[in-house]
Amino acid sequence: MSSAEPAKSLLALEPEELAERVVQLGGRPFHARVIRREVLARGTLDYGSMTSLPVGLREALTAEVPILAGVEADRTVARDRTVKLLIEFTREAGQDALVETVHIPPRKPDSKKGATLCVSTQVGCPVACPFCASGLAGLTRNLAAHEIVEQYVRGRAIGPLARSVVMGIGEPLLNWESVKRALDVVHDEMQLGARKMTVSTVGFPDRVRRAARDRPRFQLAISLHTPDDDQRDELVPSMAGTPIEDILAAGDDWFRETGREVTYEVVLLGGVNDSAGHAQRLAARLRSRRATVNLIPFNPSPDIPYHRPTPAAVETYRSTLEEHGVVATVRWSRGLDGTAACGQLRIRAR
Ligand code: SAH
Repeated sequence: MSSAEPAKSLLALEPEELAERVVQLGGRPFHARVIRREVLARGTLDYGSMTSLPVGLREALTAEVPILAGVEADRTVARDRTVKLLIEFTREAGQDALVETVHIPPRKPDSKKGATLCVSTQVGCPVACPFCASGLAGLTRNLAAHEIVEQYVRGRAIGPLARSVVMGIGEPLLNWESVKRALDVVHDEMQLGARKMTVSTVGFPDRVRRAARDRPRFQLAISLHTPDDDQRDELVPSMAGTPIEDILAAGDDWFRETGREVTYEVVLLGGVNDSAGHAQRLAARLRSRRATVNLIPFNPSPDIPYHRPTPAAVETYRSTLEEHGVVATVRWSRGLDGTAACGQLRIRAR
């Protein structure tokens, strides 16, 4: 191996590859399972503490096989204890390979509940919604499955996890193979249940249907944002021309296939899509469906020409949906001080 090529990290090795590597380093094939269990089920992050392995193997692994591939480039802790990690994965030819992972602890400091972890799936994003900081510079590359798993391992090292949302940087269904493989590992080996994981997507209908058929171990959230076709073409430009009814039909198919209801997300942009009329038209589309709505008041971000909705507009939107028979929850963002909103940490570090 040339010195320019870094050693593959433990999580990047397939289980069979790891077994081979362990044997090369003087261990037995079953040690590979022990090591994966230590890292994924128990959260051990140094070989030295894996006392069920022979000492010689622990030393050889420490020298040859890094457990993690990335580097923590920055860490910001907000007043409410939300932690934003900026993780740098291998820099290739000067490419920016920074992603964010956010660890959001329960509101009450003494709560025994675990945190919610928000993970990224791509370096940048090709969807380019005009209100979202993640797509400002387009897509650099997809994350590999092990880079997604690594975010969970790093997040759990901050504190125990109760839930996870795939709502960081990137469009998960445009990197489906890696997202699927990673979440299967998180489900099977890190024991985070399917009802505890949510993947958020802009909802490409064919990709939603394909994911539904692939035994997904998570809930689906679709970023709808508006009941009006022309406005959706503006807010999610890469899907321009896809009628909202086609997206909702794919959501219905997801429900039929998986038995799990879809959550529709609406980022409320002050004066743009937050009127009572918008809420009424959205309710008309969703009333007959098995679905709930999450309302996310916009987090202002430098260089993004939108505004936060007024609390009164948010409440009117929510109560209008409910009056029309659609269940809605408002999700005010956490960790707004210091670390600020979606995508900002990565932008500031550039
Ligand atoms: N690409 C996926 C997942 C990433 S974003 C998606 O679009 O669903 C997760 C959610 O955060 C999406 O609903 C997105 O629209 C929303 N979001 C993006 N920027 C935001 C901001 N500045 N304030 C509030 N929500 C934002």
